[in-house]
This record gives sequence, structure tokens and C-alpha cells, in this order.
Amino acid sequence: MTKINVSNLTNKNPTKDISEDDKKNKLMLSTGKVRRDVKISKDVIFGRKKIPIIAGPNGVESMKLMVGVAKELKKLNIKIIRGHAYKPLTFPYRSKNYKETQSEGMDIMDQIKKEFSLKVVTEVTEIKYLDRISKTADILQIGSRNMQNLELLKEVALTKKPIILKRHFGSSLRDLLGAAEHILVEGNFNLIFCERGVSIPHTHRETSRFALDIQAIPALKEITKFPVISDPSHASFWAPWVPSLTFASIAAGCDGLIIEMHPNPKKSLVDPLQPLNYSQFKELVKKSKKVANSLNRNI
Ligand code: PEP
Ligand code: MN
Repeated sequence: MTKINVSNLTNKNPTKDISEDDKKNKLMLSTGKVRRDVKISKDVIFGRKKIPIIAGPNGVESMKLMVGVAKELKKLNIKIIRGHAYKPLTFPYRSKNYKETQSEGMDIMDQIKKEFSLKVVTEVTEIKYLDRISKTADILQIGSRNMQNLELLKEVALTKKPIILKRHFGSSLRDLLGAAEHILVEGNFNLIFCERGVSIPHTHRETSRFALDIQAIPALKEITKFPVISDPSHASFWAPWVPSLTFASIAAGCDGLIIEMHPNPKKSLVDPLQPLNYSQFKELVKKSKKVANSLNRNI
């Protein structure tokens, strides 16, 4: 993997929106019409007709939790499990019970991966955790809050692993693509964009902290050549709305989904309003297949 050689540019026409000059000169690696797939394994490829689902809890709370989740995923033929081991909460005092499981959590993920032949997604919050996470994870997630942590993006890119880059909830698509260029310029083209909702001025209840920017999906697919996935769970923060937003994402052309699920959402150590329980998740997968099929895609 070699760093891409690009000439130095001066920002002659800074703009808020993506201009033709951006596409030619500043966002030259992420934009383009010829689509690129991101292959995780023989049967998991982002950017094709089949839409992969990534599912699991927020955090790798325990072996018991992850074994239960893995079994559910296997039953439904879902190939990618998620769970973070290094992830501080938005508020430091929010949960007495929550603690990052760190390397122990990654050891759990390692065993799950081997025993159930699942692919693993874990978020990398700090460069200092990158070595341990990338030993196990097949896909490295950059969380929305780190979208413009450019030093982190560079180090994550250098692992050569596939990367999910989540758009920050207050960032423009242009800023997202600028961040993406920091990954691509290192020669890592295994990039997957993720829309996870934006902050909006007014919401009609406290659970809608964010709103899924459905328009971002076709917009990103028009401008960039990389797969675009959707995370309706973090966008809505509210489990009952996750199915509708999932179907809307499929209709909007998403190339993958992130769904938070937990055997007992109320007991989830983080964001208990958001995960689907097993039967809700099963129903979501069943209905999503129908929506995808009606649009000449599948799950
Ligand atoms: C997550 O994926 O668990 C997460 C916290 O995502 P985001 O960075 O989009 O909030
Ligand atoms: Mn989460």
C-alpha cells in the first residue's frame, strides 16, 4: 500500500457545498462515477446488490451477551457482529454499571469470531488502542465524534483494513469527504461511508436527539464512488422508529446497515432505548428482505 502522490493545492475557492473544482482537485480520490466495492469476505461485499447487515450491542459487555447475540445472528444468516470495547460515554457519570471492557472485550470478540465464523466491527477511539483492536476486528469503525481526528484516520488507514467512516452529526458532506481523503491518500481504498443522523434544530421528543439524513444516502452515492451504509439506530435513538428508518434507508439506496440489538434492551449498559430485542430484530430482517427485493436488491 503506497501513499498516493497528489500535488499541493491552495484553497482558491473555498465553498460550503461540493463544487466541480472540489471533485477535480480537492476530493479527487473519494469522488467519481466508477463505483468501488469493499470486500470483507467471499460472501460479504459492501456496494453490491446484496446489502450486508452489521448487528450487535453497543458494547462488548460480557461473553454471555456476545455468545447470545452471535447465535441469533447465525440463525438469521447475518455475517457481521459489532461491539465496542474501548468507548467512553457521552457523559462521564451516566451509568454506574458501565465500564469499557478494553482488551478483555477484544479477547471475547476474538473467541466469538473464531467460534461462530463472524466478521467483527469495533470502533477505534484512540491510536493507542489500534494495535489490539486491529488484531481482531475485520472492519475498523471511526465513530462520528472522531470523523475529523485526522491523525487517527491516518493510522487506521495504514492498517489496510476496511474502515467505516461515520459522518459527524454536525458536519457537511464536504467535510466528510475531506476526512475520507485523509484515508484514501494513504492508499487504503477499503472505505465505507456511514450516515448516522444529524443534529437538527427542533425535534418533537427527547429521544430524537438526531434525525437520519436520508438525503445524504443518494447524495453521497451520486458524488462518491464508495459504498454508503446507514445506521438508523444511532440516528433515532429510539427502537420503535428503527424499522421505518431501516426501510427508508434501503429505499434510498444504502449499501449496508448498522443495527444495535441486545437480548434485553432495558438492561443494555448504554443507550437502553435504542437497541432492538431479538424478536424485533428478526422481524426487521424479514421485512427488510421484502423491501430490498422490491427494489431489486437483497439481504
Ligand atoms: C456506535 O456505533 O455505537 C456509536 C456510538 O456511533 P456514533 O459514533 O455514530 O454515535
Ligand atoms: Mn452505540
